[in-house]
Amino acid sequence: MYFGSVRFYKHVILITMALIVISSVTSCAFMAISNYHMKKLLRENGLAASAHTPSINSDDTAATDIRKQYNSASFDYQKLYPLLNIDNDFIYDEDLPKSVYLTFDDGPSSLTSQILDILKEHNVQATFFINYSDSMESQALYRRMLEEGHTIGVHSTCHQYATIYQSTAAFLDDFAQTAFMLEQVTGVKPEILRFPGGSINSYSKAVYQQTIGEMLRRGYTYYDWNVSADDA
Ligand SMILES: [Zn+2]
Repeated sequence: MYFGSVRFYKHVILITMALIVISSVTSCAFMAISNYHMKKLLRENGLAASAHTPSINSDDTAATDIRKQYNSASFDYQKLYPLLNIDNDFIYDEDLPKSVYLTFDDGPSSLTSQILDILKEHNVQATFFINYSDSMESQALYRRMLEEGHTIGVHSTCHQYATIYQSTAAFLDDFAQTAFMLEQVTGVKPEILRFPGGSINSYSKAVYQQTIGEMLRRGYTYYDWNVSADDA
């Protein structure tokens, strides 16, 4: 009698073990393949994005590809802050002569109005990447910057690397507060940003690819720098 015999139970145990091994190997292989595809997507996007710093523009094919890929993927943070979206019509003209762009981070500070006086005296326009401040003095400075032809971009609300680079959603939370405040005060929607510590830094290693991709997807342009006054 085979059924119920020791041989029968041995076979049952062997078949069960074989099934467990086969299903684990299959799911491992499946996870490895999807992980590979995800990494490939992020790597391509991240490297393409960083290679285009600091002059990313809407007509640029690589940047457009990144936006398309991130549009087709679905991440929860894409649903956050639907108003954080720019109709980007900035066109980068490679034939323009080389220019120096003066940028000031982390303000407004006690020096900002002095800086504005000096720029005005020399008839020079600059870009200010703002850290959140909604005091009356700061509000007056934002309006003055725009009146005098300067550009305002978003820098950060808390400027704490460990907080803002926890995840792309955390970055958006921080970015949104300053972006909305500036729009409310000046009536102008900021369209550019500078990542605190630069677009790729030791705190943002795990999230910079998708964070850069997300900001590009939303139409923002980000700028790093290639010369520093070492006054940070
Ligand atoms: Zn900064």
